[in-house]
Amino acid sequence: MTVQKILWHPDPHLKKKCKLIGSVDDATRTLADDLLATMYDAPGVGLAAPQIGAIQRMFVMDCTAKEDDAHAMVLINPEIVWTSDDTNVYNEGCLSLPEQYADVERPAEVRVQYLDRDGREIEEQFDGLWATCAQHEIDHLNGKLFIDHISGLKRTMFTRKMMKMKKERNRDE
Ligand SMILES: [Zn+2]
Repeated sequence: MTVQKILWHPDPHLKKKCKLIGSVDDATRTLADDLLATMYDAPGVGLAAPQIGAIQRMFVMDCTAKEDDAHAMVLINPEIVWTSDDTNVYNEGCLSLPEQYADVERPAEVRVQYLDRDGREIEEQFDGLWATCAQHEIDHLNGKLFIDHISGLKRTMFTRKMMKMKKERNRDE
């Protein structure tokens, strides 16, 4: 398990549509372990592969905010197969946009099909923060950030703040 550097917006890796993972093997599980280590280290409740520069369809999440990883989830090739008509508004943040938050409205419940770290096919329904997190992370796999859900004016403001922060903290490489 290696804690990786989290890429900050704006970064071309965060704009890419990620590739499907052909087979779940040891390399896939190493990436999952690195994602989990990096997420818990941050700390955060979710992290997608492109956020550490891997353009692959995988994310991890744990919305329990506990120290242990008993509720760590690894979702490979996730696909939303159903969304509720009810919506929820959460004040979302993102490890790729530290200290930036905005209200985003999304379906309150979603059903997701994915492969787990052993390659088993799973279909699971999420609600509450888990539903918001799953949708936020799947957006990442399609090159989309939470600021793409808000007004253009606010988005430009967030991007300017991030460019300044990257420069100040020498993250502009
Ligand atoms: Zn994010």
